[in-house]
Amino acid sequence: MVGGAVWTFDPARPDATAVAIDGDRIAAVGDDAAIQALAGPRTRRIDLDGALVLPGLVDAHGHVRCLGERLAGLDLRGLASPEEIAARVRARAAGNLPAGAWITGGGWDQNLWPGAAYPGHAPLTAAAPGVPVYLRRVDGHAGWANRAALDAAAITRATADPPGGRIERDRHGEPTGILIDNAMSLVETARPRPTRALLKEWIGVAMRRLAAVGLTGVHDAGVPPEEVAAYRELADEGALPLRVYLMWDGTGPGPIEPLVARDPFVQYRGRLTLRAVKLMVDGAMGSRGAVLFDDYLDAPGQRGLFVTDPGEIGRRATLALRRGYQVAVHAIGDRGVAEVVDTVARALAATPVDDPRPRIEHVQCVRREDLARARRLGAVASMQPTHATSDMRWAEERVGSERGRGLYAWRWAAEAGLPLAAGSDFPVDPEPPLFGLHAAVTRQDRADSPAGGWHPEQRLALDEAVRAYTAGAAYAAFEEKDKGRVTPGAWADLTILAEDLRTIPPRRIHAVAVRGTIVGGRIIHDAF
Ligand SMILES: [Zn+2]
Repeated sequence: MVGGAVWTFDPARPDATAVAIDGDRIAAVGDDAAIQALAGPRTRRIDLDGALVLPGLVDAHGHVRCLGERLAGLDLRGLASPEEIAARVRARAAGNLPAGAWITGGGWDQNLWPGAAYPGHAPLTAAAPGVPVYLRRVDGHAGWANRAALDAAAITRATADPPGGRIERDRHGEPTGILIDNAMSLVETARPRPTRALLKEWIGVAMRRLAAVGLTGVHDAGVPPEEVAAYRELADEGALPLRVYLMWDGTGPGPIEPLVARDPFVQYRGRLTLRAVKLMVDGAMGSRGAVLFDDYLDAPGQRGLFVTDPGEIGRRATLALRRGYQVAVHAIGDRGVAEVVDTVARALAATPVDDPRPRIEHVQCVRREDLARARRLGAVASMQPTHATSDMRWAEERVGSERGRGLYAWRWAAEAGLPLAAGSDFPVDPEPPLFGLHAAVTRQDRADSPAGGWHPEQRLALDEAVRAYTAGAAYAAFEEKDKGRVTPGAWADLTILAEDLRTIPPRRIHAVAVRGTIVGGRIIHDAF
């Protein structure tokens, strides 16, 4: 490919205009004339027309199956009446649904409808009689089920509201089909486990979307064995466009021994690596589950909840380390992060490992001294820039201005010398990496708010932010020899953007079009 602006991140040649690819690796980087001269009769030539070529962008923390499931379901956002939604359900039911399949989707909002009242199950029951239908509200805090879904969950007038949830009922006491908060799980746990074919479909749908937004790789932050099996089949079929770095899901109450009893593997079929275990110490800031040293400012007496006791984190980390796995721990509150640093330090002292690169996922509220201690452990900070701009309206109310200085503090992390790996935590936040790059360098949302940025002292320079999505993510996955620079010998993983991010105003970064995505020399998204 010639005629572009190649930002190589290779100190030996920071800029070029052309790249030659041979097989799955970069063969040469240089000017147009030198690269043209390498072309053979069967070489595909791409005229970049001034496009920006970057080392392939990677999302270091996402949830692929969840994204695929959401994309494969009905998208009901913005629909203006229950009848419109029922029509979508009827159309889906008329397609060839596999036996036992449910119709699912989300995004409805009764506030957009005439009367703004919660619907009943009747329109969905009529649209797909006998087929369970379950649709989540736009905020994820209510579900709308039809008769067949209520039956599958055995919800009747005799069913009590679960703690923290409510089954909406009519004046005769019959469930209407609307389930609030924890009552949603009555239906969600009644859904059949997805088949291998369905898991593969969801992963495939997500992969196509990730390729389209310019991602060449993703770290899937917590998978069970059945998803690993689905991934392996896709890899065998040559149907994994991106490189995927898998973490076992070790976050639940169940034992992790059966997971880590299996051997890690690296670059299976050139696409799939499984060599990390995801653990989780605390909850989220939004629900005041993140563990803090002092009370939540807006909830005196509350300091969050350990999802997994730190002692158990240590035991699981030791098991994982012994089996050759990297440890990645979700830690959001300042005390959650500090406990993880302590616990992982003890686990590493007891089970020394060459180059362990423990990962701390999220690091949303942190004390500076704990970042320095994390650095001494050789840890990686895996952070999500758009979380800052999604949470900035309320995050400081939770912790106050003093602790607020350490919210989403990626500048502090970088100054502490911690390698930064960036991601989105999709589908929690949207998956385009350009949204994250934009948030990292502006600390503004995509409507340019607030003016000057939220805690702008934590902004990253553009090159630092790109590194977090490229070399940083590669380092977090032990792939820095092969990925993260546009240089001869590296994997031919490239993200190609319509405009040069270095020359446009930072506020426009999120809107730049993706021209192409290349993984291992294969064009997986082609908008040239
Ligand atoms: Zn996550």
